Amino acid sequence: MKTAVSRAVRGARNVQLRNRFVSTTSSISSIHTPILRLPAPSLLKSTLHSRTFTSTTRLREKQDQDDDDERKWSTPLAKQLAQAIELTGPIPLASYMRMCLTSDVGGYYTGALEEGRDQFGLKGDFVTSPEISQIFGELIGVWFLTEWLAQGKKSTGVELIEVGPGRGTLMDDMLRTIQRFPSMSNSIDAIYMVEASPELRQTQKNLLCGPDAPFTESKQGYHSVCKYNSIPIVWTETIKSIPISPEKQPFIVAHEFFDALPIHAFQLVSVPPSQQQRPNSSPSNQITSPTLQWREMLVSPTPPNSTHESLNTPPSQSRLTPPPDFQLTLSPSPTRHSLYLPDSSPRFRSLKQSVGPGALLEVCPDLSLYASDFAHRIAGSPSSPKPKPLGAALILDYGPGDGTIPTNSLRGIRKHKRVSPFAEPGLTDLSVDVDFAAIAEAATNASEGVEVHGPVPQGVFLELMGIKERAEVLVKKAGKEEGRKEVVENAWKRLVDVGPGGMGKVYQALAILPENEGRRRPVGFGGDVVN
Ligand code: SAH
Repeated sequence: MKTAVSRAVRGARNVQLRNRFVSTTSSISSIHTPILRLPAPSLLKSTLHSRTFTSTTRLREKQDQDDDDERKWSTPLAKQLAQAIELTGPIPLASYMRMCLTSDVGGYYTGALEEGRDQFGLKGDFVTSPEISQIFGELIGVWFLTEWLAQGKKSTGVELIEVGPGRGTLMDDMLRTIQRFPSMSNSIDAIYMVEASPELRQTQKNLLCGPDAPFTESKQGYHSVCKYNSIPIVWTETIKSIPISPEKQPFIVAHEFFDALPIHAFQLVSVPPSQQQRPNSSPSNQITSPTLQWREMLVSPTPPNSTHESLNTPPSQSRLTPPPDFQLTLSPSPTRHSLYLPDSSPRFRSLKQSVGPGALLEVCPDLSLYASDFAHRIAGSPSSPKPKPLGAALILDYGPGDGTIPTNSLRGIRKHKRVSPFAEPGLTDLSVDVDFAAIAEAATNASEGVEVHGPVPQGVFLELMGIKERAEVLVKKAGKEEGRKEVVENAWKRLVDVGPGGMGKVYQALAILPENEGRRRPVGFGGDVVN
């Protein structure tokens, strides 16, 4: 397998290494390491301090707010959120996250950042694997090539779909690699990019089609033609806008996309008999023992004139932003979401037994929607049956690889530093740990025609894909160019490093494939190239 894969990667054209944070002359020890969007549980615990939202505090805060009509909100989005909360009461964390990331009123991906700045690289807020090394995207391209080979080398009907494509770097590296294999490249009917950000959509189009290529709008989205093999590219805002057709073979990639999907957060509380609703008042129906109920964590404004100190923001998170405008509070009564989401999976339900009162739970309904959509595209659905499952999805992100349900995982990131997720909404990147087991569950529940492999740690996946061999080729090509060898070495090692600053262990890879009773394992997950 290694030989075939390394043969494949060797074929890829060498381009300037996209290591945006290292000057080619700097020594390894002086390399500034920008932040990954990784979890740091110890910091998060203190960020997500929650308190019970009693009616007295609510009244007091309302009073305070009336007294202080002049309250200055940190961003236009903060003001809009505060106004909405005044009307409806505290909002679910998922609504807050969705607004912060993709609202029209200056969401993080939808216009909040000043012109000329984007989210990525040294001048941005964080760095991602495709931006660290070109090898990452090349190996993902090879992975889809191996799936195309194993699934019968179809000559038409292939679609490449990327959700959350950032600067377009991953798709560019994948396409450059796939282009070396004309029979696969010629089988691609269309490329679809699911992107919420108008600015990033433009960046992607410039990279993949060239700045001068026409960019036209239709009901479906935006259209242009790729510089590789003149393949049509369509940009849509959601995956639902991409047609599903039984003849197609969709190859879907999601890198650091699921961590940006909004979550609902819950805590399990013991409700005393006096606070439980009785079905009727007859003495035989008296409730005598406490019951365990899920309560939702809601977002409400911080009291006016709060400071980082009064809100207990950890000192490490208080340098870059003013005090948070919002905070998490625990709903005193059940909410619409607390009544059904914690009940939606046996994994969630088991927490009542295994952890008991105080248990925390994060549920991401959008994760299930995307995972089910991937499964339907690969294997068909009752409304759009498919004669034979075809295609594959590869999901790479950070989150527990052992089936543990994420808790307390919301984090805010700004300029490579951790900040409160409730400070300056819109200007702060928000992300959460991805529940890989929930992706697997949603995909397999959505269709019997798919099977799931992994998650496996990113380091294992990339090493099986031949990252070392590809790096050796690039190092040789670097020749005597000063510092470049170090840059290549440093970059690939970071992607597979299992230490605390590395990406090899915390990031995971998961594959959704056509069902074959587990007979063929995909490359990178313990399988061999099938040709
Ligand atoms: N995959 C890229 C970018 C990761 S950042 C990389 O690894 O470098 C997250 C990406 O998802 C951005 O492109 C962002 O604009 C997009 N995004 C975030 N939320 C989205 C949503 N709800 N719908 C569509 N795109 C979204």
